[in-house]
Amino acid sequence: MRASAPDAVVVGAGPNGLAAAITLARAGRSVTVVEAAPTLGGGLRTDALTLPGFRHDLCATIVPLAAASPFFRTIDLAARGADLLQPEAPVAHLLDGGRAAVAERSLAATAAGLGPDPAAGRSWRRLFGSLVRDANKLGPELLGPVVHVPRHPLALARFGLPALLPATRLAGSRLHGDEAQALFAGLAAHSMIDLGRPLSASFGLVLGLYAHAVGWPTVRGGTAAIGEALAAELRALGGEIETGHLVTRLDELPPSRVVLLDVTPRAALALAGDRLPAGTRRAYERFRYGSGVFKLDWALDGPIPWTADGAHRAGTVHLGGTLDEVAAGEHEVARGGHPERPFVILVQYAAWDPSRAPAGKTTAWAYCHVPGGSTVDMTERIEAQVERFAPGFRDLVLARSVHPPAAMEAHDPNYIGGDINAGIQDIRQLVFRPRVGLDPYWTGAPGLYLCSSSTPPGGGAHGMSGYHAARSVLRRELR
Ligand SMILES: Cc1cc2nc3c(=O)[nH]c(=O)nc-3n(C[C@H](O)[C@H](O)[C@H](O)COP(=O)(O)OP(=O)(O)OC[C@H]3O[C@@H](n4cnc5c(N)ncnc54)[C@H](O)[C@@H]3O)c2cc1C
Repeated sequence: MRASAPDAVVVGAGPNGLAAAITLARAGRSVTVVEAAPTLGGGLRTDALTLPGFRHDLCATIVPLAAASPFFRTIDLAARGADLLQPEAPVAHLLDGGRAAVAERSLAATAAGLGPDPAAGRSWRRLFGSLVRDANKLGPELLGPVVHVPRHPLALARFGLPALLPATRLAGSRLHGDEAQALFAGLAAHSMIDLGRPLSASFGLVLGLYAHAVGWPTVRGGTAAIGEALAAELRALGGEIETGHLVTRLDELPPSRVVLLDVTPRAALALAGDRLPAGTRRAYERFRYGSGVFKLDWALDGPIPWTADGAHRAGTVHLGGTLDEVAAGEHEVARGGHPERPFVILVQYAAWDPSRAPAGKTTAWAYCHVPGGSTVDMTERIEAQVERFAPGFRDLVLARSVHPPAAMEAHDPNYIGGDINAGIQDIRQLVFRPRVGLDPYWTGAPGLYLCSSSTPPGGGAHGMSGYHAARSVLRRELR
């Protein structure tokens, strides 16, 4: 440990905790990070979950948000050992009858593949064309607090007006044909909210935009390499990391001028409730957690036998059928139910990353949404969805690892009830996350900040919550 007290201590070594620490260290401040788990990375962890020779990502695996993140762009990830690998196509959405709607890197190629009616492709180009052109302007606008003074108001307005809509409404009114509508529904369903709710369209727009603008890469060997890269960057700047220390009280920490918490508001209350102003305490008590995930990882005896050609080329495969089917399933989850045919997000990284599985074998990562804290076993329903679009899949399963919501939370306390975004991302909690105020990162108590994905811009491996929290610290206390 360092001889003198650090300027700042960060609790939690997820991407946001590490991004906060790096941002402070770059400004010349001394930083120590304290992490509960024996390994760092939070949602960036990779392990042999099934059989020897198979390497699985426990949490995050597709990292378009890292590729688009202004913070990550300041780090030479490849030089620090984290290579982003692009599959041939970012994402395919499967429909019955062997059909696939594929979001390709190229907008034109995507449009050309959206079914026989040219109106479908034209509608996709109309929706995404200007967003893709504005991608670089939109990056910093989208990956920060919703309430801010825009640097590119026109670009933001072109995004913001359709983004306000429910995904079902946007897809139904602006996109033509089953393929385009279903593709958009699958992208929007990453929101983990009812697709009939306002602002659910924003997730479809952001993820579609990134599919075209930066791709949906994975990380060679697993996303843990990004955590290691961030840690190496921090150590090179003089920062220190202590693992295996679950912080239960702030007075366990080394004395410092500032503490940043890469934890949920609920955990912040437990750690520092007595230091928080009454208004913050009330807001943190009212902060809501959303749906959870039920996750499976498989060791497979060979490639998944997709019926649709497009699915073989895509890194991520969405299994859920039409817009109506996806929307009905997500609606059921939002109301506390478990759909018979859940919307499944599947990633087949080993198809282009041989370090993930022994020769001739492969692996896949998948989850569906379930109500927060659900104890229902979704294994059979998820595998039935894969089998629906890839008959013969079940015969390939050599081993599976099952992570229901409780296991997700046991692995990382930020995923309350399996909520991988550390707080529901509906309209209220997107705009005011985690509370109403001009600086969402400051708790209102001197020297105490929140920097997890419970703050803007929310869930995802982008580090931008940590970056913005550290900027707030530098403006307010460590000038
Ligand atoms: C199953 C799953 C799939 C996902 N898929 C993707 C994906 O494909 N792409 C993507 O971009 N994102 C994905 N995510 C989301 C992404 O992983 C998170 O949004 C991101 O990791 C959040 O970063 P964070 O730093 O805020 O928190 P976390 O990464 O959760 O890190 C928080 C850290 O704080 C530590 N901690 C918490 N409390 C304490 C304490 N009291 N004392 C000490 N340490 C503590 C935790 O152990 C953890 O290491 C996924 C998440 C899950 C669970």
